[in-house]
Amino acid sequence: MRDIITLACTECKMRNYTTKKNKRLHPDRVQYKKYCPRCNKHTDHKEAR
Ligand SMILES: [Zn+2]
Repeated sequence: MRDIITLACTECKMRNYTTKKNKRLHPDRVQYKKYCPRCNKHTDHKEAR
C-alpha cells in the first residue's frame, strides 16, 4: 500500500520531487517544505496527481 507520489512547488507549479507515502496513514494530500531549483529557495511542495 505504498504509492509513489509527485511533489509540485506551490509557487511555480514545477514538479521537483517524487517520494513515497502510505495512503492509509495519509489519506489527505501531504505538503512538505523543500528546495525548488526554479524559485531558488525553499517553498511548500504539495502532492500532485
Ligand atoms: Zn518553485
